[in-house]
Amino acid sequence: MIDSHLLPRTDGYIDGQWVEADSGERLDVTNPATGEVIAQVPRMSAAETQRAIEAATRSLATPLRLEDRRRVLERIVTALQEHRSEIGRILTQEHGKPLAEAEAEVDYAAGFFRYCAANIDALQPRILDEKPRGLSWRVFYRPAGVVGLITPWNFPIGMIAKKLSAAIAADCASVIKPSSKTPLTMIALFRVLEDVGLPQGRVNLVMGPAGPISDCLCEHPAVRCVSFTGSTEVGRQLMEKCAPGLKRVTLELGGNAPFIVFADANLDHAADQLLANKFRGSGQTCVCANRILVHQDVADAFTEKVAERVARLSVGNGMEAGVDIGPLIDAKGFNKVRRHAEDALQQGARLVVGEIPDAAESDWGCFYPPTVIDGVRRDAIVGCEETFGPLVAITRFSSDDEALEMANDTEFGLAAYLFTADEARAERAIRSLHFAHVGHNTGSGPAPEAPFGGMLQSGFGREGGIEGLFEFVEPQTVPRG
Ligand code: NAP
Repeated sequence: MIDSHLLPRTDGYIDGQWVEADSGERLDVTNPATGEVIAQVPRMSAAETQRAIEAATRSLATPLRLEDRRRVLERIVTALQEHRSEIGRILTQEHGKPLAEAEAEVDYAAGFFRYCAANIDALQPRILDEKPRGLSWRVFYRPAGVVGLITPWNFPIGMIAKKLSAAIAADCASVIKPSSKTPLTMIALFRVLEDVGLPQGRVNLVMGPAGPISDCLCEHPAVRCVSFTGSTEVGRQLMEKCAPGLKRVTLELGGNAPFIVFADANLDHAADQLLANKFRGSGQTCVCANRILVHQDVADAFTEKVAERVARLSVGNGMEAGVDIGPLIDAKGFNKVRRHAEDALQQGARLVVGEIPDAAESDWGCFYPPTVIDGVRRDAIVGCEETFGPLVAITRFSSDDEALEMANDTEFGLAAYLFTADEARAERAIRSLHFAHVGHNTGSGPAPEAPFGGMLQSGFGREGGIEGLFEFVEPQTVPRG
């Protein structure tokens, strides 16, 4: 069992109290690297969620002034910095990513609270300069109310930081549901939140099987906004469930990122950036390059550079020094990557690095060998679905138009990357790509200072940047005669 001063109890948190499930039942949390059950957490359901929503609603009777919210956000930053190593240690043990990556994720999370603290003045009431109809107009940014925040396992603290920082800035009350695979990092965050000066009931944590909890969040009339990060399939279901109550939804969903290398690109730089982008979280991030599109004139040279680098990656338990890639989250994820690689090879692709491993049967120890395949057909499964694993699938193209047509040939619109030395070519490509995040000579993903979200089936709404600060407010206009 995991031993941490941030986890004196591994319970839910409702109305300022640590609480068990009504049923007393608990769910195992397993270390995906070792198979060890490291904790048990409450198996909560609709009744606990309802109580959390009621507590959140009551807490709105104690509004916080903007200055107080700024202070709360700053205290969270300080606390995350202080507990960086310990939260990282918990995160690695339940998720599997290398410790250095886990600690970097804590820094990333702190960045969202820091950004909101620094920019919260954007939510100050303002007076319109224009005086329409001869009236003076004020605009207030009122809190949306109670918000339901549902997060995935791939960034156990990063994803909630994006949502919660904006919710606190807006003075909303939150009911949070983490993924059942990674609830411990969230519990540690709540231990930190206990001491930052939030009113009782302002943040609540429920956990357990997703259905009854998310149904309650979508259906309860007091919840005014549901913000979800996860798969497109589940996002669509939540939107349907929120429709009868005309509830606002923010959906941060799946991706299928193209990574385009034009013939004039700096190939060493592009290869370095691909490695940093593709293998983060063992390839399990929504912004991971999925389709590597390379001009045919440089494809052999680029593939060789990537292969050299990938062959040096070390796979293992993220708690051990020197490990670059941890296990995949479960057997389902492992077998999906395997299916994508096998399908591409059956259609004529060439295996450059790696192997097709035996199918995984257990949800732990799913260490997938980093793999490079070249000559992948564009209609292979890996070209159409999000792989979510350490598989570099290279497809060749012969003209700019073909590259851009292939890149846009997906229902997703989250992230894309392009590498070229030609500014005009880059600008033309960026304009034509239907992706909300386009890395130009970089494989960098989002940052707290910039708005991030999806186009098309990757969802809508923005997190981060000034745009993200406005996700949980209702503008109220007051013309005065
Ligand atoms: P997921 O299966 O959709 O789960 C996400 C969250 O929804 C978890 O808390 C999960 O709870 C819950 N959930 C699962 N089934 C549900 C249902 N039927 N109704 C309501 N809630 C449900 O996604 P995931 O596998 O955790 O995450 C990977 C996906 O997230 C990928 O597609 C990735 O691209 C996407 N993602 C997107 C972004 C972005 O910013 N756009 C960022 C990160 C990840 P349980 O775990 O308890 O089942």
